[in-house]
Amino acid sequence: MKLLKERILKDGKVIGEDILKVDSFLNHQVDVKLLNEMGKEFAMRFKDTKVDKILTIEASGIGIACIVAQYFDVPVVFAKKHKGLNMDNSVYETEVFSFTKNTTYNVRVAKDFITPNEKILIIDDFLANGKAIEGLMDIINQGKAETVGIGIVIEKAFQNARVDIENTGVRLESLAIIEGFKDGKVYLK
Ligand code: 5GP
Repeated sequence: MKLLKERILKDGKVIGEDILKVDSFLNHQVDVKLLNEMGKEFAMRFKDTKVDKILTIEASGIGIACIVAQYFDVPVVFAKKHKGLNMDNSVYETEVFSFTKNTTYNVRVAKDFITPNEKILIIDDFLANGKAIEGLMDIINQGKAETVGIGIVIEKAFQNARVDIENTGVRLESLAIIEGFKDGKVYLK
C-alpha cells in the first residue's frame, strides 16, 4: 500500500537491529485518515472472504481492527493481557512470547465472544516472529471457530513468520513488507 509505505519511509524510526517505531501515526499518535485507507485496503483484499468477527490483541491492534471492522460491519474482540476483576473464569487463554519486551505473557478472550464455526479475521499492527498471531489462532482453535485470514499493517519479512502462517493454509495479507534495516534506513519490498 503506497500511502503507508511512503509514511513509513518518512516517519518510521529504526530502533536497534530490528524494531521500527511508528509512534507518530500508528502506535501512539494515530493518523485516523491513514488508518481509514488501510481499512479500505484490507476490505478490498479480503472482499471474497466471509468474516463474522475481527480478533486482535491489546493494545496496539485495537485502533486498526476497529476501523477494518466498520468495512465488514462486524464486531471486534481484543485479547486481553490483564485479567481484570470483571473478567470471569470462563476464558480461552494462551501464552505469547513478546518479542519487543522479551517476556512471556498470557492473553485471554471470554468464551462468550468466540462461538463455534465463527469465521474470524485476525488484524494486528506488526508481524515479527509471529507469536502474537500464533496465540490468537490458538484461542480461535480453542473456541472451535475458524481463522479465515490474517491482516497485518507492517510485516518484518526478515523475522520469517510468514512461512509458518502460510503452512497452516491461512491467507496472510500485509500492507507493507520490510525486507530489512541497514544503517538506520528501512528497506521495503
Ligand atoms: P510477534 O508476536 O510477531 O513476534 O510480534 C508482534 C507484536 O509485537 C505486535 O503486536 C507488535 O505490537 C509488536 N512488535 C513487533 N515488532 C515490532 C516493531 O518493530 N515495532 C513495533 N512498534 N511493534 C512491534
